[in-house]
Amino acid sequence: MTTEELYRHDAYQASCDAIVTRLEGDRLYVDRTVFYPLGGGQPGDTGHIAWADGKLEIVDTVHGTAGDIAHVVADTAFLPAPGDNVELTVDWDRRYRHMRMHTALHLLGAVLKYPVTGGNISAEKSRLDFNMEDTIDKQWLTEAINELVAANHSVSHRWISDDELDANQDLVRTMSVQPPRGKGRVRLLDIDGVDLQPCGGTHVRNTAEVGAVRVGKVEKKGRQNRRVNIHLDD
Ligand SMILES: [Zn+2]
Repeated sequence: MTTEELYRHDAYQASCDAIVTRLEGDRLYVDRTVFYPLGGGQPGDTGHIAWADGKLEIVDTVHGTAGDIAHVVADTAFLPAPGDNVELTVDWDRRYRHMRMHTALHLLGAVLKYPVTGGNISAEKSRLDFNMEDTIDKQWLTEAINELVAANHSVSHRWISDDELDANQDLVRTMSVQPPRGKGRVRLLDIDGVDLQPCGGTHVRNTAEVGAVRVGKVEKKGRQNRRVNIHLDD
């Protein structure tokens, strides 16, 4: 049974009720969740699960083997049973930093218009790898990102079917990343006037919420690769 992905519709929902569907070692599966599973460079959420008889820490969230989502628990001595009603609550401080960082990486990619070859998000620092040879002026880049933050661009997402994509080649051309096809539909992340691309992660609702961003180390990873690290200033 697949898990309903509530975080894909509302990234700000920090808790939800759910029903346990199955257990597998230290992995607990439910019918619906607000926990984001590791993927797309964004870490899996942490938090806790509570039910009538107990409460447990969730230390990670990953994709399961059956199209569902696994909540990894810290301790397997006492677990809820399949069919039990539970309440899931995300560690919101950590997740909200991931949302701000994730949105900041879209801004970084919008300023440095080079092909992106990799990326990673954490609450402390995040990075994108660019296929580029040019030297980066960190001061200029920091200012350019913070201008986009200050301009308070709205951030939204929408779903589009493969058929709609085929019928809207202009839309595809404006995307910074080509959409994957063959899954029936694609989730588009739209930072108004700044960036449009397929993305399944969690983001803040406007760029002002990102807050002040600082460009950190720029690492040369081979002749054609620059790794740009960013930090949040609070
Ligand atoms: Zn994204």
